[in-house]
Amino acid sequence: MQQATISAEFTLEGVGTHSGDLCRIRVKPADINNGIGFQVQDTYIAANYHNVVNTEMCTQLACDGVSIATVEHLMAAFFGTGVTNAVVYVEGKEIPIMDGSARPFVDAIKRVGIEQQNSHRSCIRVMQEVAVVEEGRWIMLAPSDDFNIHVVCDFSKRQLHTEPKLFQFSCEKFADEIAPARTFGFQSDVEEMRRRGLGRGSSLENVVVFDDSGGVINSEGLRFPQEPVHHKILDLIGDLSLSGYYILGKCSAYCPGHRMNHRLLQELFSDASNYAVII
Ligand SMILES: [Zn+2]
Repeated sequence: MQQATISAEFTLEGVGTHSGDLCRIRVKPADINNGIGFQVQDTYIAANYHNVVNTEMCTQLACDGVSIATVEHLMAAFFGTGVTNAVVYVEGKEIPIMDGSARPFVDAIKRVGIEQQNSHRSCIRVMQEVAVVEEGRWIMLAPSDDFNIHVVCDFSKRQLHTEPKLFQFSCEKFADEIAPARTFGFQSDVEEMRRRGLGRGSSLENVVVFDDSGGVINSEGLRFPQEPVHHKILDLIGDLSLSGYYILGKCSAYCPGHRMNHRLLQELFSDASNYAVII
């Protein structure tokens, strides 16, 4: 597996889902071994789990007191297209939410093209099971020769029925099945979020909203029957990409979220016998 960057820079702009402010990103190619990073004013924030400072509603990175929020969908787009080196110049405090999915980022990357670089991509192999359990929810990594994700959600209290999904990672399947899956929420939570000053930029243009009987409020309906489960996989891929590695392992999760995804990486790297670095 090779490292890769984008063939030319691209710019995207849109509302930030939490701040409601207009945010703009300019994404530029980067050299071998740079990894993904965010340039916010004069501060460079490496896209690494060490720099995660907040996991409520999104994944937020910070360095030297400067932060960037809602990185997970863009990170998933880089991982899902095989782009390992790029610098994201940011105007604003978060990455624009676009349509709530990773598709606009994937489309922009494909539009400018992907350039393979003459160096191996860093990979790790999971050597033994690693798990995080939290209030009845859990997430784990187990040894595997591929990168697979199995997600089970339970929104039965919300009257929303979902099916488990196993996703065997490939760039092609990511673009088709995972990247288009949008952020979702529940109508009953909207008022509470507004009261707490969250989700100021969220609207039916960037969130799928379910009503109290599990019905979709958005007039266009769902992009897939199991769109919320696909979106959980999208978030998981974005969050796990903050390891800085391609992971050979099977990730299984029951009701995952950004906080648990982050804790899984902390647990994985807390013991060197959990993984082996390979090229
Ligand atoms: Zn998300």
